[in-house]
Amino acid sequence: SKKPVRVAVTGAAGQIGYALLFRIASGEMLGKDQPVILQLLELPIEKAQEALRGVMMELEDCAFPLLAGMEAHSDPMTAFKDTDYALLVGARPRGPGMERADLLAANAQIFTAQGKALNAVASRDVKVLVVGNPANTNAYIAMKSAPDLKPGNFTAMLRLDHNRAASQIAAKTGKPVSAIKKLAVWGNHSPTMYADYRFATIDGASVKETINDQVWNQDVFLPTVGKRGAAIIAARGVSSAASAANAAIDHMRDWALGTNGEWVTMGVPSNGEYGIPKDVMFGFPVTCANGEYKIVEGLPIDEFSQACIDKTLAELIGERDGVQHLL
Ligand code: NDP
Repeated sequence: SKKPVRVAVTGAAGQIGYALLFRIASGEMLGKDQPVILQLLELPIEKAQEALRGVMMELEDCAFPLLAGMEAHSDPMTAFKDTDYALLVGARPRGPGMERADLLAANAQIFTAQGKALNAVASRDVKVLVVGNPANTNAYIAMKSAPDLKPGNFTAMLRLDHNRAASQIAAKTGKPVSAIKKLAVWGNHSPTMYADYRFATIDGASVKETINDQVWNQDVFLPTVGKRGAAIIAARGVSSAASAANAAIDHMRDWALGTNGEWVTMGVPSNGEYGIPKDVMFGFPVTCANGEYKIVEGLPIDEFSQACIDKTLAELIGERDGVQHLL
């Protein structure tokens, strides 16, 4: 049987954590033959640590055959020790009266500390996924705080946007989501993201030609995907958590186990692809094989798409410039 791998999760007692940990422990992320050791990080305050103990009791009570060990931590320097995977879920939410700059600064503090800790103690091949918002910029901060790790070890979650887009297309065309290939989401995990089905196929046919409705694309599809998080808060009274956790599982599973040539969307540091400045943490279509992702290159970008990409890029550059002095 396989040697256990170490999976660190921050914000482990939060909502997304609650929808995430049980699926990691049951083998849905890394495979039904891969034992895992969970290294769980929560804030060093009694309330958070107490809640974490409760979640760990429930994990124990599931008696998962693949759960080879479990640890509670309040310090990233111990939580990330030798970790092979790190899911950074915990982040500072926007509080009442909090300005955007305050939010960026509070998160910059969390993600510089976590980047430094990963740099110091994690596996040199650690795969890092940032879920906590602003996810792309938090991932950028962690990456910049970890100079001894490869930039490509750091990624941000765009998969929820990708999955939302796939479901909207499936509903519109009356076909199953599994029939949709070659979908891409560009940019920031925010309402400015650009979900792009120009290259997508459904049962082999062009999605763009099947839908053939640019007004639907601009006035229905893009706003629906972009504002989906707000729609769920309005309906449920609390933010989406299970779908975010599901996207995190999809992202890590595909990165670790491969996509068999199919496209998925990941937020990854640019190497200049599509004119995105180097190191900007940007949603791109990628394929994964042998534990590595590869950006799909050479796609034609038309005028409308370029304008969408420019808009989401401008937002990301604004966020980056807002935290640069804190790095
Ligand atoms: P959630 O588990 O609901 O959310 C955690 C983070 O994920 C938030 O930043 C949230 O962003 C983000 N997120 C990304 N995509 C989505 C999505 N589609 N829907 C909802 N959220 C999304 O938050 P909780 O408050 O329940 O839990 C956070 C936990 O993290 C707390 O237990 C807290 O103690 C802990 N924490 C731990 C830290 C650490 O380990 N060092 C640091 C800070 C917090 P958004 O705010 O935009 O919804």
